[in-house]
Amino acid sequence: MPHGPTHLFIPGPTNVPDAVRRAMNVPMQDHRAPDFPELTLPLFADLKKIFANEAGRVFMYPSSGTGAWEAAISNTLNRGDRVLMSRFGQFSHLWAAMATRLGLDVICIDREWGEGVPLEDYARHLTEDKSIKGVFVCHNETATGVTSDIAAVRRVMDAADSPALLFVDAVSSLASIPFEQEAWGVDLAVTGSQKGLMLPPGMSMLGVSAKALAAHQSSTMQRCYFSFADMIRTNDVGYFPYTPPTPMLHGLRCSLDLLFDEGLPQVFARHHRLAEGIRRGVSALGLSLCARAPQWYSDTVTAIRTPEGVDSAEVCRIGFHRYRTSFGAGLSKVAGTVFRIGHLGDLNEVMCLAALASAEMSLADAGAKVELGAGVAAAQDYYRSATAALEAEVDPPRELPRESTGGAS
Ligand SMILES: *Cc1c(COP(=O)(O)O)cnc(C)c1O
Repeated sequence: MPHGPTHLFIPGPTNVPDAVRRAMNVPMQDHRAPDFPELTLPLFADLKKIFANEAGRVFMYPSSGTGAWEAAISNTLNRGDRVLMSRFGQFSHLWAAMATRLGLDVICIDREWGEGVPLEDYARHLTEDKSIKGVFVCHNETATGVTSDIAAVRRVMDAADSPALLFVDAVSSLASIPFEQEAWGVDLAVTGSQKGLMLPPGMSMLGVSAKALAAHQSSTMQRCYFSFADMIRTNDVGYFPYTPPTPMLHGLRCSLDLLFDEGLPQVFARHHRLAEGIRRGVSALGLSLCARAPQWYSDTVTAIRTPEGVDSAEVCRIGFHRYRTSFGAGLSKVAGTVFRIGHLGDLNEVMCLAALASAEMSLADAGAKVELGAGVAAAQDYYRSATAALEAEVDPPRELPRESTGGAS
């Protein structure tokens, strides 16, 4: 194995900023102490800003994102309820499998992997069938690098006069690309700590609308650990029904501060810029994306098809062993034909160039005919002009400060 750190380019867990890691290095504390709400109450309030959910609330569970998927369903629906879902990647597939296992009556529309939510099919089902209680969408399908238009799903529901709750998986989108829980009428929005929030894995967050809180009152599905009612009773005064991961809460304080300091619009713009550079690099290498059309291109993860005869798992193996780079593997249906570059969380242009450089070497070693440097050069071109445009926007052109040119040592 070569020397040095392993570069993490998977779409979660993402890189944890040093400040967040340090913030989590705290002595253990009493989670029932009188001063504990001073830490937690501002976290609940600030998470609502991240979800853009003013009237509802946000729960935090000690679980991976999958736990919040289950919390969303088990707190608001009843066994046998009819729900509308679609599958176009591993994560939308898994949520549909969970809904079935929890006893829902699932109408599941299968699309090609690489496409997004099928709006026309949703419109047809919702118009024809008024018994549908829940509509589910994976906002950013991490397996294929596909982002779906959630506002459009809400419009389809409203046009059909659907009373259903809107469930959205925002695990690999929240805090990285625009997400507007209230404006889009999202009733349940699921996320996890290890993606855009730049924390270690182990905590999930669930944004809940006022309508979903009302639905909770009449929902009879079995639940205990994930119960909204238990959470509300304790969260309202700054506590939890059981022991929360206290170091993680300190990390969350720090990551929220970092996000607010940069500014959410700037965070979203940065993710768009980074992703665009990666896409230009991929295209300059003559490779295509798993996402089938630009409307679906994800700004948090790029899934790349390897050329005919080149095993994408081999690209990932070479990347890891020879170049200390972790790429996301192709999952399930696209195993062997797709590998992924995750570009969400704490990263910048130069890190994305490193990802492309390592991908080029790994692809070439795996037998792909790629021109070394072509992807990097295309991304460099784009990053240079995007950076110049950004500077001109923030500030009129000026000399760079002397100390930042790195001349003296
Ligand atoms: C990461 C991810 C999840 C959650 O996975 P966990 O391993 O349970 O945290 C769910 N949906 C999407 C789209 C994801 O990217």
